[in-house]
Amino acid sequence: MDHASTAFDIAERVYATCRRLGIPPTPENYLLWYTHCSGDHPALSRMIRLLEENGDPLGPERCRELYERFFLRSDMERTVARCGARLEQLMREVEEQLQGAGRRNEEACDRIAALGGRIARDGDPGEICRLAGRLLGEAKRVAAELRMLSGQMHAKAAEVATLRSSLEQARREAEQDPLTGLANRKAYERRLRELARESMETGRLLSLVVVDIDHFKSFNDMYGHKVGDAVLRVVAEVLRRHVRQDDLVARYGGEEFVLLLADAGLDAALAVAERIREEVGARHLRDRRTGRDLGRLTISAGVAEYRPGEPLEELFRRADAALYEAKRTGRNRVVAETEVSAPDAAPLP
Ligand code: GH3
Ligand code: MG
Ligand code: MG
Repeated sequence: MDHASTAFDIAERVYATCRRLGIPPTPENYLLWYTHCSGDHPALSRMIRLLEENGDPLGPERCRELYERFFLRSDMERTVARCGARLEQLMREVEEQLQGAGRRNEEACDRIAALGGRIARDGDPGEICRLAGRLLGEAKRVAAELRMLSGQMHAKAAEVATLRSSLEQARREAEQDPLTGLANRKAYERRLRELARESMETGRLLSLVVVDIDHFKSFNDMYGHKVGDAVLRVVAEVLRRHVRQDDLVARYGGEEFVLLLADAGLDAALAVAERIREEVGARHLRDRRTGRDLGRLTISAGVAEYRPGEPLEELFRRADAALYEAKRTGRNRVVAETEVSAPDAAPLP
């Protein structure tokens, strides 16, 4: 059987399974059951077999759990999926409640109209009083229904707000470095794409600074990782203070940081990097807990300016080559891409 007819064959089994289980063939369910039926995911198939053997009903809820477990990688993806599913359910509940309330109100209005007709026809004061009492009763029921509905909507709105803030938090955490609180590499890559696009569209200048702490390994070896971590936070704090609103400072990894400077050409970016280098180098480090003097640390930096249209890796490569040059020529230096010597330069001391 060729590839396409195998796929049709599997697709038919997927539809049959969805029908048998009473679940809709949404993209998620389709992916789940297609993967299972194709036999490409032994762990997933094992889990499905186990659930079936245990008589566990594989309804929409269980399928969603399987999808999350086997197809979503990060916590963030899982949170987004869960919040999305809950939001959908909330919308359905709201719709049902509104329809129910609308129906009941219409019935009450019919009853009120009928009572009104009878009052108009009936001249007996006792009967009019009784009918008026019933009218009032109906009106109270309508009011109570509206109050209940408003309470339910209020609770739903509160839940939507909570979902929104957990989504927002998941997004923030996914793009934040937990140690320093700076943006992480993922956020850097996203912001770089944004700023590069702007640069191509409008000619807005953009520069990249790559910063690396000098001899940080020996600092760690001498004072321990915990103190090293505290120093990373100090450096992060200095970097943060030197960037503007539209810029981004991120921890690229380990003891390496990147700065994306919007509206800055090579010279402006060099000036920022130089100020940072001076400030870090001038700082006298002290262990806050023990009071021990930790001496000074220096950083090296490489700076490059974005050339609109070039691949983004190319920009990083030039800034990184400049950083390498700064290390090679003595550290505690800021080097521009234009100062990088030939590729056969001497290796790092
Ligand atoms: P160079 O001047 O050439 O950059 O030397 P270096 O020692 O800084 O560079 P190297 O890449 O050899 O070592 C980097 C060190 O950074 C290794 C590790 O001890 C330290 N480091 C990386 N990430 C962390 C971290 O999260 N916490 C701490 N405390 N140290 C880290
Ligand atoms: Mg280093
Ligand atoms: Mg490094």
